[in-house]
Amino acid sequence: MTADGWADKWIEIDVDDIRWNLEQVRSCLQEGVRLIAVVKANAYGHGAPEVARILYQQGVDFFAVSYLKEALALRHSGLRGSILLLTPLITEDQVQEALENHITLSITSLPEAELIDKVSRLSKRIATVHLKVDTGLGRFGMDLEQALQCCEALNRNSNIYIEGIYTHMAEGAARNTRYTLNQFKRFREVINQLQDRGYHIPICHCANSAVLLNYPHMQLDAVRVGTLLSGQHPVGKISHRLELRDPYRFKCRIISVRNLKKGSYLGYNRTYRLKHAAKVAVLPVGYHDGLALAVDNRPSGLVDLLKVLAKTVLNYFHFPRLQMKVSYKGHLYPVRGKVFMQMCLVELPVDLEVQVGDEVEVPIRKTLALGSLMRLYVREGKAGKVDNDQYVSYVVEEEFNE
Ligand SMILES: *Cc1c(COP(=O)(O)O)cnc(C)c1O
Repeated sequence: MTADGWADKWIEIDVDDIRWNLEQVRSCLQEGVRLIAVVKANAYGHGAPEVARILYQQGVDFFAVSYLKEALALRHSGLRGSILLLTPLITEDQVQEALENHITLSITSLPEAELIDKVSRLSKRIATVHLKVDTGLGRFGMDLEQALQCCEALNRNSNIYIEGIYTHMAEGAARNTRYTLNQFKRFREVINQLQDRGYHIPICHCANSAVLLNYPHMQLDAVRVGTLLSGQHPVGKISHRLELRDPYRFKCRIISVRNLKKGSYLGYNRTYRLKHAAKVAVLPVGYHDGLALAVDNRPSGLVDLLKVLAKTVLNYFHFPRLQMKVSYKGHLYPVRGKVFMQMCLVELPVDLEVQVGDEVEVPIRKTLALGSLMRLYVREGKAGKVDNDQYVSYVVEEEFNE
C-alpha cells in the first residue's frame, strides 16, 4: 500500500471459505478425534495469525507449525490454545523461550530430551511434549528403543508432561497402500510397547490430510491437517474427496496498457510474437512474486517423467490449455512472453475496454506469494476496500473478541 492508499497488488482471503473447509474436515472426524490445525508456512500462504484466529473462533484449540519463530508469532498475536512445534529445538535459549510461551515441543531424539529435561529443571517450568517416532519418512524421529529410553528418562522429571506421540506418513496419497499400512503398524507397535511398560500417552496421531481421507481408521486420537483447511486436496490418489473452497485470490492492478501491432515481439528473448493486433497490459507481478515458478523436483516415476516432458513440449508450442492465464472481468486472458522479475505481459483483444488501474486476478501459488504482501480478509463476497486499513483487521478482530 502506498502513502495515498493505493495498492497495486494484494491477496484476498475469504473468511467464510475457511470456515466452510473447517466444517468439511470436521465432517470426516470420528467422535472424540481432535483436530490439530497445521498453520505452518504462514498458514499455507493465507496469513497464519489471522487463519488461526478464524479457526480458534470456530472452536479449534490445537495448532501446529514447523518453526519456533512461527509459534512465537502466533502466541504474540494473542492466540490461545496449544501450539505444537513440529521440528526440534537445539539450544537452551530456544527451549527456554518456547517454555515461557507455552509452546508444545516435539522430541525427535534423546539429546533433545536431555536438553528439555535440563531447561525445565533449571527454569522450573512445565514442558508439554510430543514424542516423534520415525516409521519411514526418514526425516525426524526416534525408533522404538529410543522412544522407550526417552520415556524412562523423562519420567523422572515431574515438570515434563508427555502429552502426545506421533509419526508422519511418507505417501498417504500413493496408489499402493502397503508402505502406509506398514508405517501405521510400526507406529502401533511403538505405542503398544510403551503401554506395556506403563507409559500411557494420551494423544497419538499420524494422519495428515491425505491419510485422513484415504485411511479413516488411522485417525487415532487426533489428526494434523493443513492442506484441506487451505482448500485443496493433496496431490495423488484421494479416495474420499471433500467439497472444498479455495479462500485465496491474488489480485493486482494493470499498470500500463498499449495497442501493439500484429507481429510485435513480447518480452526478453522474443519468445512470443503477436499473431494479431492486440492490447498488451503490464501487470506488476513477476517471478519475484511467485508467478510461474515451478517446484523443481525429480519426476517421481516414468509416467511422471513423461508427463513433465509432454508438458514442456506442449508449452513450447503455446498449447492454449497449458497457457498461464489471468482473469479480467470474469474472462481469462493469456500471459505472453517470459515472465519478468517483477512484471508480466497479458494479451487482450484489441477492442476490449481496459483502463490502467483495473483489477486482474493472477494465478500465483499461495505458498510462494510473499508473506509481506497485504492480505485482506473478506466476508460474504464483500472485499474490504484496499484503501481502507480498518477493514483488514475488522473481520478477524471483531469476531475474535465476540
Ligand atoms: C505439514 C505437516 C502436516 C500437514 O500436512 P497436510 O498434508 O498439509 O495436511 C502434518 N504433519 C506434519 C509433521 C507436517 O509437517
